Amino acid sequence: MMTAKEIRESFKKFFESKEHLIVPSAPMVVKDDPTLMFTNAGMNQFKDIILGNVTPKSRRQADSQKCLRVSGKHNDLEEVGHDTYHHTMFEMLGNWSFGDYFKKEAISWAWEYIVDVLKIDPKDLYATVFEGSPEEGLSRDDEAAAIWEQFLPKDHIINGNKHDNFWEMGDTGPCGPCSEIHVDSRSEEEKAKVPGRELVNKDHPQVIEIWNLVFMQYNRKADGSLEGLPAKVIDTGMGFERLVRTLQGKTSNYDTDVFQPLIKVLGDMAGCKYGEDEKKDIAMRVVVDHLRAIAFAIADGQLPSNAKAGYVIRRILRRAVRYGYTFLGQKEAFIYKLVPTLVAEMGDAFPEIAAQQKLVMKVMQEEESSFLRTLENGIKLLQGVIDETKAAGKTEIAGDKAFTLFDTFGFPLDLTELICREQGFTVDEKGFDVCMQEQKNRARNAAEVKMGDWVMVNEAESEFVGYDYTEYPAHIIKYREVQQKKRTAYEVILDKTPFYGEMGGEVGDQGVLVSENEEIKVLDTKKENGVAIHIVDKLPENPTAEFMACVDLEMRRAVEANHTCTHLLDEALREVLGTHVEQKGSLVTADGLRFDFSHFEKVTPEQIREVEHIVNAKIREDIPLEEYRDYPIEEAKKLGAIALFGEKYGDKVRVVRFGTSVEFCGGCHAQSTGRLGMMKIMSESSIAAGVRRIEAITGKTVEETLDRMQDFMTDLKGLFNNAPDLMSTIQKAIADNKDLQAQVEEFKAQQAREFKKMLIEKARDVNGVKVISGVLPIEPQNAKDMAFQLRAQFPERLLVVIGSVAQNKPALTVSVSDDLVAEGKNAGQFVREAGKLIKGGGGGQPHFATAGGKDPEGLKSAVDKIVELALA
Ligand code: ATP
Ligand code: MG
Repeated sequence: MMTAKEIRESFKKFFESKEHLIVPSAPMVVKDDPTLMFTNAGMNQFKDIILGNVTPKSRRQADSQKCLRVSGKHNDLEEVGHDTYHHTMFEMLGNWSFGDYFKKEAISWAWEYIVDVLKIDPKDLYATVFEGSPEEGLSRDDEAAAIWEQFLPKDHIINGNKHDNFWEMGDTGPCGPCSEIHVDSRSEEEKAKVPGRELVNKDHPQVIEIWNLVFMQYNRKADGSLEGLPAKVIDTGMGFERLVRTLQGKTSNYDTDVFQPLIKVLGDMAGCKYGEDEKKDIAMRVVVDHLRAIAFAIADGQLPSNAKAGYVIRRILRRAVRYGYTFLGQKEAFIYKLVPTLVAEMGDAFPEIAAQQKLVMKVMQEEESSFLRTLENGIKLLQGVIDETKAAGKTEIAGDKAFTLFDTFGFPLDLTELICREQGFTVDEKGFDVCMQEQKNRARNAAEVKMGDWVMVNEAESEFVGYDYTEYPAHIIKYREVQQKKRTAYEVILDKTPFYGEMGGEVGDQGVLVSENEEIKVLDTKKENGVAIHIVDKLPENPTAEFMACVDLEMRRAVEANHTCTHLLDEALREVLGTHVEQKGSLVTADGLRFDFSHFEKVTPEQIREVEHIVNAKIREDIPLEEYRDYPIEEAKKLGAIALFGEKYGDKVRVVRFGTSVEFCGGCHAQSTGRLGMMKIMSESSIAAGVRRIEAITGKTVEETLDRMQDFMTDLKGLFNNAPDLMSTIQKAIADNKDLQAQVEEFKAQQAREFKKMLIEKARDVNGVKVISGVLPIEPQNAKDMAFQLRAQFPERLLVVIGSVAQNKPALTVSVSDDLVAEGKNAGQFVREAGKLIKGGGGGQPHFATAGGKDPEGLKSAVDKIVELALA
């Protein structure tokens, strides 16, 4: 039996023999495509080739690509664990032809590989072909069907509809029919009962799709119509885990050597065995599946967070924690403990996971623990809701309550239902759905973007000239209109552009396009599929004119300085903190820079100083920029250039060097370090477990900051009459203040004693009750203390009523001795009644009560009123 590793290798070997270039997997986290957060198919990394923006280094390529299907167009998350053949993260084996071979070779080679090489029994195989679509004017894909007929009997070739057998990249762009290969792995007995062809594409867990061959031959335009694609594309995708399962004769992906080692360790940890209890099995599948997705996402540079891709990862982790908590009895962080096993199994094929094991574990442990705390709070909250529902005599939990739990505590409906069911309650699912829908509508309205068709002006390739120029003559290749939130902007692509498109944390350039008779503002520049897109506020009257494309130079120079600073900072941090420091994210703008890096404790103020000194020394050295463009990646590695995990690099890279700092980098840089002027670190903080963030500034911003600090010092000195020794003057002021405070306290205590003495002297005896009352200018707290002291001093037949006023706020304090309480006197009742006279209210116990109010005028009569009530 072939192992998973051998199967992966055999695929690459087979397509190598068909003259394919074998390329590495692109990172699973997508960083340079605003329309996609994660790689969800093998073709993603080839999108710019398919769109014709980039020439491929080979027209035949093959690989194994890490994919994640948890958001957007492909979202399998809720299936995962419940079935045995959908994963969040999986490997997609694929082969590509970019304008080279087409259907005949694609189908024949697929057949040759799985039947001749891997020996899958042809009688278990089925192929689907596109049945056609009259409304699109498309007929059946007879071409593909005819090729299949060379290998398969007709009753193993099945027509499929547009949903299953017509593939589209998005609302617009390349598309075409596809043919899927399905495998029937049921027992002979079952096959005899129901023919496999009836179960294809029917969600049967043993008749599953393993390979999809896509034949891209059309381009979908914005108005929905189709036109022929000049360079046809073959794009195939085979689920690696499904293939392994088929070859290893299993009926579940989880029974293969891809997952069994993980399941074994998890079982030992949770004290259970896979295959004995369906609920626990589901939970175990969820955990081992999600573990892979989370660990690889973190290794690719995507940390769990509150927004976008980070939030998707956070949600996957929470789903795993929840299943472990509910079904496997895991009340403490546990998933991270599986990482070493994952590294042992997959570290060879994917070295990034081995290299970052420590960080991955640390981040996961912290996320798990913090969610478990949330989970416990959520369970308490839900218990409150259940109790309220019970008190109201109902047995159904309101839908909006369940939704709040979902929205703020990540409690999915099924968990809420589970907990409720255990106590005999149900949940209003309809109400929940309504809340969910409302939220989705809100999100959709906020995010809706309408893209117009590209309007072609000139045929040309777009070229970035911004490393060498900040002004350059240019022509428009194409433009389109973009509408978002009722605002219209335009996107323009130029043949030559000095504008840097936002990338690698560096913001896009701003500036203007100037022609003979007009000027157009460039508000921002983005990079999409390798091309710079200029966002402009209006379209030129004459799009065919020649423009001078001028970058806002002041902004660009500031950005360059800050980008160069991140390189110097990176190097200095490694020197001071150690070589475990790795860049985990960065933001470079004209105002400053942000640098995130792996490090497991706070950076001390002394270390920060040291880093600043190292960087500033390099700035003073004025080290010149050395740039290696289109440099072979192997040579770059020899230079010792630092690469980023999770970044996609081609064969030719750009290397940026300032003396000993050497990095792979596509960004814009200062001509020499002296241009940075000076750098200053403004803050150091933690953004996740094991990841720190430094914010820093350079150049003019440092100057402005120093000016502000100096102004502040000047003002401060002014406040102290420009005392020559400010420090000791302030220290003396603090000490004086402390002295005065003590004196005030002493004075107040003295005054309280005086007041008390005065009240006792004024005490009256009314029908055998000692009445101590009066209005005093003291704090309520002092009045309370006084009342308790008097009560202790005169324990029998005593009534104390103090009206106090401080900061113009009146308060009442009433105390009654226990013997009077026994006779039915109630201080609480008195203050409630008399509180009205000071426009306030209060309460308390029979022996002691207080009230606060707004009207000090009524204090005297309130005190009299209480005495009157008490003696009545
Ligand atoms: P299915 O209908 O089974 O969800 P699909 O139509 O979504 O499959 P494609 O988008 O054509 O699949 O992807 C190509 C191949 O990738 C599939 O043939 C399958 O082998 C594999 N695949 C797709 N989704 C998953 C997943 N969630 N987990 C594992 N493998 C998958
Ligand atoms: Mg699917």
